[in-house]
Amino acid sequence: MEQKILLTPGPLNTSRRVKEAMLWDLGTRDREYQDMVQNLREELLDLAHVKPEEYSLIFLQGSGTYGVECVLDSAVGKDGKVLILSNGAYGERMEQICRAHGIRYKFISFSKLEALPVEQLEEYIADESVTHVAFIHCETTAGVLNDAETIMEQIHRHGKISIVDAMSSFGSMDMNLKKLGIDFLITSSNKCLHGVPGVALIYGRREALTACQGNADNVVLDLYQQWSYMEETEGAFRFTSPTHVLLALNEAVRELKEQGGIPARHSHYIRLQNKIYQTMCSLGFKAPVKRKDQAPVITTYFVPEWMDFSHFYHWMKERGILLYSGKLPGYDAFRIGNIGDLTEEDIDRVLLEIGTYVSQYGKTDDKVEE
Ligand SMILES: *Cc1c(COP(=O)(O)O)cnc(C)c1O
Repeated sequence: MEQKILLTPGPLNTSRRVKEAMLWDLGTRDREYQDMVQNLREELLDLAHVKPEEYSLIFLQGSGTYGVECVLDSAVGKDGKVLILSNGAYGERMEQICRAHGIRYKFISFSKLEALPVEQLEEYIADESVTHVAFIHCETTAGVLNDAETIMEQIHRHGKISIVDAMSSFGSMDMNLKKLGIDFLITSSNKCLHGVPGVALIYGRREALTACQGNADNVVLDLYQQWSYMEETEGAFRFTSPTHVLLALNEAVRELKEQGGIPARHSHYIRLQNKIYQTMCSLGFKAPVKRKDQAPVITTYFVPEWMDFSHFYHWMKERGILLYSGKLPGYDAFRIGNIGDLTEEDIDRVLLEIGTYVSQYGKTDDKVEE
């Protein structure tokens, strides 16, 4: 097996040092391991610019969606009602979660190709029956970035509790949780933090976490229990901890800091994304999302008339590069991610291969259109 370049929204390429950090088998109930977990929790709070007195970081075994389901199930409660502001598949998934748990919700859906229209949101947020508001920061479906700052201002104006899925934005953009005033933020180990998959990260404001007590309708996704256990034991998980995943994440956070932190990673991503975008445009590809709404992690491109995406996908795969199919109903599109442990040289090679493909299979009349 040969290592491929993953141009996906996760899991992503990880560095050798992150993979090597997993070479140790640790006791999940051992102090040495728990000290690492505690230290990592603090480092992660630091990355979000918050203090342990105000916020807490909780690890939950599973992929990112486990974290989203855990927060919705634990935070909203029997008397609450959550407003889901959706502009993509991940907002729709929140609705699915609420339905499965019998959580009261209101689901409002907007265009998947644009950022949430902030001027239209407040009337829904103001609804007196709504207690919580949930939205996706970076909607990975089309690669759209929502205006978290403005939406958070609106949520605060109406005194609602906020739930933000920042799965693919945390680590790619510097976020100040305190300044934004987010109550619950969910991200995962395997996206822009460059760890391996297996753990969801939940940031919670302490008061909001305390209010979760007794709300969950199941055992494993009970945020309050997971949190209080982790606090009381100083770093233990209620059930078997994904020790190797935590070791990898610990190393990934160290690596992130050495590389200049989140602002440096953001600039790197932007450089890669612009490079891809410029070349793709010059090859005749078109991106449906406006540049002002574009998230710094993944870009959607239309499949041109002449192209059979499945053929393109396999052709690229043979050359060690994995593209990502589209997720937009009604559009024939694909996506190119620019996150993970990727260098400019990796991207140069990708673009060279795409150029070769276009010159072999592409139709020139498409290429010079407009
Ligand atoms: C990746 C992602 C998720 C979680 O997906 P998992 O497959 O459960 O890790 C949720 N929301 C967004 C916006 C994502 O990009």
